[in-house]
Amino acid sequence: MNSTIPAPPVRAAEKTDFGQLPLPPHVLANLEQLGYTAMTPIQAASLPLALAGHDLIAQAKTGSGKTAAFCLTLLANLNIRRFAVQALVLCPTRELADQVTQELRRLARAEDNLKVLTLCGGATMRPQLASLEHGAHVVVGTPGRIMDHLERGSLQLDALNTLVLDEADRMLDMGFFDDISTVVKQCPKVRQTLLFSATYPEGISKLAASFVREPKEVKLSETPAPTQIRQLFFEVTEDQRLHAVGLLLNHYRPVSTLAFCNTKVQCRDLVEVLRAQGFSALELHGDLDQRDRDQVLVRFANRSTSVLVATDIAARGLDITQLEAVINVDITPDAATHTHRIGRTGRMGKEGTEDGWAFSLASVDEMGRVGLIEKAGNFTSAWAPLSSLTAASGEALTPPMRTLQILGGRKEKIRAGDVLGALTKDLGFAAAQVGKINVNEFSTYVAVSADIASQAERQLNAGRVKGKNVRVRLLDS
Ligand code: ADP
Ligand code: MG
Repeated sequence: MNSTIPAPPVRAAEKTDFGQLPLPPHVLANLEQLGYTAMTPIQAASLPLALAGHDLIAQAKTGSGKTAAFCLTLLANLNIRRFAVQALVLCPTRELADQVTQELRRLARAEDNLKVLTLCGGATMRPQLASLEHGAHVVVGTPGRIMDHLERGSLQLDALNTLVLDEADRMLDMGFFDDISTVVKQCPKVRQTLLFSATYPEGISKLAASFVREPKEVKLSETPAPTQIRQLFFEVTEDQRLHAVGLLLNHYRPVSTLAFCNTKVQCRDLVEVLRAQGFSALELHGDLDQRDRDQVLVRFANRSTSVLVATDIAARGLDITQLEAVINVDITPDAATHTHRIGRTGRMGKEGTEDGWAFSLASVDEMGRVGLIEKAGNFTSAWAPLSSLTAASGEALTPPMRTLQILGGRKEKIRAGDVLGALTKDLGFAAAQVGKINVNEFSTYVAVSADIASQAERQLNAGRVKGKNVRVRLLDS
């Protein structure tokens, strides 16, 4: 014990400065513009190794900045003048693939003419085939669909130099092992392989053993500090359960809440109860087609919907950075699932870590499950009675933002800047009244302050975006 030598003080400013990485000045300048002033811990641990060309197995929790770590690496390996697929990123779901594509586009803003193509299941084949004919530098997609394209010969990987398996744990969960193998077999042997994962279940080593060469391992198993997520349990009877959600919302007034139910039926019932009480709530369920699912997620991420209600399966792969509360409407029988659910609140906000609430509603019958959760999490649950919940103010909880849908997207060459310009320069709204602008293929979603929403809808419909008339509708709050 007494032989412990005090560690040298960590010079945080140096260790996390992007400037020490072998990245060209225009990339560094863009990072600064994006507000990436310092590397996150996983970036600081993995980027020096990855940029030196090593294969990597990297593990860090959701929201820790893994995407930028592999995107900066694959961009560094890329020769923009060579018009062929040089990097492939495999993701478990289309949402995650879309998120990776968006982050990649942001990080590559300084590269002219970088073509990124997203290839996921569920979308029709024909446009994908057409896009592939035009070629791309980077392909991001789900294993099944990538495999389809390889089989059809519509995608060639002979120029590939970087392969990324993102969210490897979830891909395994979803049974993609064989599909991944099939895809990897068609990649050139000489390549850099980067495997990223939020957790490190056993299957990962098997995956790694088959696809990764002399990898460097980077693991940051920081479990969220208990102070970051404040957990509180409430005992309920079955009659009280759904009603209790409204009590929690009125008492704590979280702007964005993710409510987990164990079944789809419970999700549907809860949304009905919440709406009847005047809350804005949307259900995320597996039967939604992808455009509807996109829309639900955008509306929630825009803070124009207060509550997103989902089962664990439907919520898989969701990445929402600003979440004030998670409510476990039912207690899950699986303690790891509980940890996963509550880990979504209190994420890194732009200003650092913010506290989040995790509320759990438990009936007498569920006390055994609570016991398992306590044991797994090594904590003693704190309880409060429902009667302690009082409405903090007489006013209904309403979302601060509304979402406008512009019928037209990338296909119509609409860009976020055009929409922001139309709202601020042409119509005179303040930039602070405009939130996220999400340009999809066929539609564009714009978050605006609730108080200007109707006016913005009217004026956008009457005016022009990028010199063109557009159709705009205000989605229900
Ligand atoms: P993960 O894949 O680990 O779950 P993401 O890559 O999605 O996490 O990153 C989470 C959020 O953090 C994203 O919104 C991303 O833009 C942001 N981010 C990543 N790196 C940095 C950084 N160095 N500085 C500031 N924000 C960052
Ligand atoms: Mg990720």
